[in-house]
Amino acid sequence: MFGQMDAKTPIDIALWDLFGQACGLPLAECLGGRDGDDVALYRSVSQDTPDVMLATAKRHLDAGYRRLQVKVGEDPLLDAERLERVASLAGPDVVLYCDANGAWSSHDALRFLDATRSIDYVLEQPCARYQENLIVRRACSKPMVLDESCDSLDALIRIRNDGAADGVTIKMSRFGGITRSRLARDLAVDAGLKVTVECIGGAQIISAAIAHMCLSTPQVMRTHTVDFHNWMSVANAEGFPEVVDGRMAAPRTPGLGVRALQETFGEPLFVIGEGAS
Ligand SMILES: [Mg+2]
Repeated sequence: MFGQMDAKTPIDIALWDLFGQACGLPLAECLGGRDGDDVALYRSVSQDTPDVMLATAKRHLDAGYRRLQVKVGEDPLLDAERLERVASLAGPDVVLYCDANGAWSSHDALRFLDATRSIDYVLEQPCARYQENLIVRRACSKPMVLDESCDSLDALIRIRNDGAADGVTIKMSRFGGITRSRLARDLAVDAGLKVTVECIGGAQIISAAIAHMCLSTPQVMRTHTVDFHNWMSVANAEGFPEVVDGRMAAPRTPGLGVRALQETFGEPLFVIGEGAS
């Protein structure tokens, strides 16, 4: 069936888990080899008053995270003030991203860029429309990454050919799981684009898949990712390593390296294979 990437994603991940188990190898080793022990995590600073955003940033920094994604995309001058407050707290070891999630017009984004010229940050997906992002890109002196615009291999090739960004975010459920995310990751790395592999959301199973994808991406080309399972109140697997000092490791046992907690899924919709009726 064409499309339906969200539905295909867990099936694709489950098949890769079985493949890794059959090979007796963790997925990081199956997907290109493990480079390093862990990957840096970012935490989002959601839009609010500058004071509240400052307090949120402080909480994340105190917890050990060294990469902050400041959510922008409203009034560009208010957003600039928000960024200034967070940047005033962050030391030189803290990496700042400003993510508009495509909410600005190019007009708004250009005003924001002008108001924040003296701050060191990465600009993420300023506008929704690809053409508007190209307008911003031409005027942008900051590194720029595209997230929502990078939703297929075709889109990635276009970004690469147009020089539209310095990096891309590959969200696994947009690509239908590990198989195509890996293709996109390898293509991006080969094209010299920095890579963030993550997803739309999830718990331990997707965190494990993300961790293996990240660890098998060359360290010089990977940026950071997110520990979605720590945002959730329900666990769907056990055996995933604890996050330490804002960094996430990948399991060392075969496949995903986590054991799914079947009770969290309820009754299966259908069963394939041995014992299926
Ligand atoms: Mg984003």
